[in-house]
Amino acid sequence: MDSVYEGQLAVDYGSLLDTYGTSRNDTFACQCASGWFGLVYAALGILNSYKKHRDQKIIVVQIKEKFGKLRIYCGGTNAFSEIALEIIEMVSGHVCECCGAEGELANDRGWLNVRCGEHHLTTSIQSVEASKLMMLAHGRKLASVILDIVCQFGVQSAAWARLPATALGGLTPAEVLSTESGCDKVMVLLSRLNDSVLD
Ligand SMILES: [Zn+2]
Repeated sequence: MDSVYEGQLAVDYGSLLDTYGTSRNDTFACQCASGWFGLVYAALGILNSYKKHRDQKIIVVQIKEKFGKLRIYCGGTNAFSEIALEIIEMVSGHVCECCGAEGELANDRGWLNVRCGEHHLTTSIQSVEASKLMMLAHGRKLASVILDIVCQFGVQSAAWARLPATALGGLTPAEVLSTESGCDKVMVLLSRLNDSVLD
């Protein structure tokens, strides 16, 4: 990931990152391309929230692309933070790793990767102009929706996120959460479900 994005992660969530602030290495290295900045930002936002409010001693040790999707390895998590990370991993299967736009998981000569139409031939190490502001806005919203999902569905959250929903045009919440406007749609769906439970 480009240093400008990693720098932002270190400034906002440095206390969560294993090597930050030590003599070994001041910046945490994310082994994925910059298009996933928003997803990583969302994941760290969620973990930070659990760390602060639920007193979990979370430390992130590795952030990488694995089998085409985003994997975040950390210690000190519990079932809820693990489920939140599982949902982020699912969402990453629909976000172009190069630019942060909507993408699809594809097999490129044996390598699985998520790419949009424009970057289907781009390898993840190639630097691509990606909108930091757009990804930051998406990441912030995504963190808040996933916290809501886990709050509402608990240990069933990941199962709910991979279930197609009529209210989302037959798509799964995990697919729809790949864009900022999609996060709004899932937010509306959650509040409707919440209302119907309370009725
Ligand atoms: Zn792209």
